[in-house]
Formats: sequence, structure tokens, C-alpha cells
Amino acid sequence: MRESWQDRFAEASDVLKTERRQQTVVPVLDIEIGGDEFVTMAGPCSVETESQIMAVAHHVRRCGARILRGGAFKPRSSPYSFQGLGLEGLKLLAAARQETGLAIVTEAMSECDVPMVAEYADILQIGSRSMENYSLLEAAARSGRPILLKRGMVATVADFLRSAQVILEYGNPHVILCERGIRTFETSLRNTFDAASIALLKQISHLPVIADPSHAAGHRDLVPALARIGVAAGADGIIVEVHPNPEQAWSDGEQSLDFAAFEEMMALLDPYLALRKLAAREPAGAPLMEAVG
Ligand code: PEP
Ligand code: MN
Repeated sequence: MRESWQDRFAEASDVLKTERRQQTVVPVLDIEIGGDEFVTMAGPCSVETESQIMAVAHHVRRCGARILRGGAFKPRSSPYSFQGLGLEGLKLLAAARQETGLAIVTEAMSECDVPMVAEYADILQIGSRSMENYSLLEAAARSGRPILLKRGMVATVADFLRSAQVILEYGNPHVILCERGIRTFETSLRNTFDAASIALLKQISHLPVIADPSHAAGHRDLVPALARIGVAAGADGIIVEVHPNPEQAWSDGEQSLDFAAFEEMMALLDPYLALRKLAAREPAGAPLMEAVG
């Protein structure tokens, strides 16, 4: 007797596809995440200065990004690392939106900060380290903003879907799932990019799925390849770290692309996206409704 995905993920039944609910489209300004358009979110790990965020915003927009990322509240493993500009960073992001028209995604780390972050952001990011912070999930859900939910670095797909279910349960249907790499025995890269989970999530869940090749790789040289893998796995978009001068970045410089590398990565994604569109026109196989093993 084979177990169905519905049984395996029974605690997250509302995020699973049904006959009636095949795909959730999350509206953000004039953008539809989970719709026909592949959506690129790009920007620095942390908002640092006005000139930095403005330069990045203009560059990533010119290369085709629709959403600007940038942390104002940073979850850092070391208390001695840069913790983010806080409110000042949020204001700089809002100014960049005003100047470029890009939507803003930024992290809220604590439920106390949610109202302030929601005032400035178009999408609230729940970071990997916060995926199981249920009071934060509740506050973020109740803010009414779309939520970019990053997979915990030691979370299974079932854990991940349960956290998404919590947000839906608090009345917010606009959840975007983000695979950002998980911890495994492999330590060559910062994390192990779980491309299979993207394919699985696209198969079983109606929520949009975004790939984060930057935090998965941890090295800028690997980011374009992982982004292409994300496209091939069926992701609805990517979130990528970009910095005018990665060597000088206040956080995650090793994995940040400079302007030229980002431009090249975006141009190289196009043929893969075209191929995917072509493949989508092929008659689809029967939906996989059974879990194996
Ligand atoms: C980030 O997006 O900069 C970040 C801290 O990501 P994660 O929560 O996936 O580590
Ligand atoms: Mn980062």
C-alpha cells in the first residue's frame, strides 16, 4: 500500500493542490508571483548606505528584476557581526522603491518589528532561522502582507509545509515558499541546494516556490548554475544577492554577485526559461499523487 502525498503531509493539507486549487498567485504591486512571469528578486544581503541600495536597485531593475531585496534586520550567527540598519534601512528601501518602482522584500525577525516592517515592505521575509518562530509567523500573517517563507536550514519539507499552513491558518493565503539550501553531511558549500524539494513542492503545493541560489551556494561562482537548476526544477522565481562591491559588503560578500556577474547570470537564464516554456507545451504526464518509499 503506497502512501499518498495527502497522507504524508496531512498536517499541511491546505497548502496541497486540490482539483479546484492548482496554483496560488500572489499579487505584489503590479507583479504576480506564481503566475506566468518568472520573477527575479535581487539586491544586497544588507542595506548599507543610500548610494549602495540606490545603485543596486537601478542595476537589478535594468537587468529585469522586479523586486528589490535587502535586509534591515539581520539574523547574524555572531553578535559581533553587523546587525542591520533597522528603521533607517527600511526607509532607504522605501526610497529605492519610490525611485525605481521595484517592490520591496525584507526580513522581519521579531513579532515586535512586524508592524514597522510591514509599513515599508511589500513582502515580509521570514528567515531560515525563524521558520518555526510561531509568534512571528502569526504576527506576520496578521499583517496582511505577502510572506516569503524561507525553509529552515534543518527543516524537512513536511516541517516547511507545516509552517506555511500556520500562516494560512491565521488568515493569510499569500505565502511564497523559498528553498535556500539545507544542512547535510556535505560541507564543500555553505548549504546543500535541495533542488528536488523545489520539484516536489511544485508538484504537490499550490503555493509559489522561489529558489535562493545565493544562500544555498555561499560562493558567488556557483550562484548562476544553481539559479539555472532552480529554473529547471520549476521555480516561479529566484532571490539573488547582488552588491556593487562584494569584497566590501557588510554581510554575505562571498556569495554576492557584482553588477557584471548579475547581468551575465540574467542573460544566461533566458534560454533556460524559453526551454521551460517550450517543455510546458508538451502534454503533461499524469500528476504524481503517490509518495514512494
Ligand atoms: C538573507 O536572506 O539574507 C538571509 C539571512 O537568509 P536565510 O534566512 O535564508 O539565511
Ligand atoms: Mn544574506
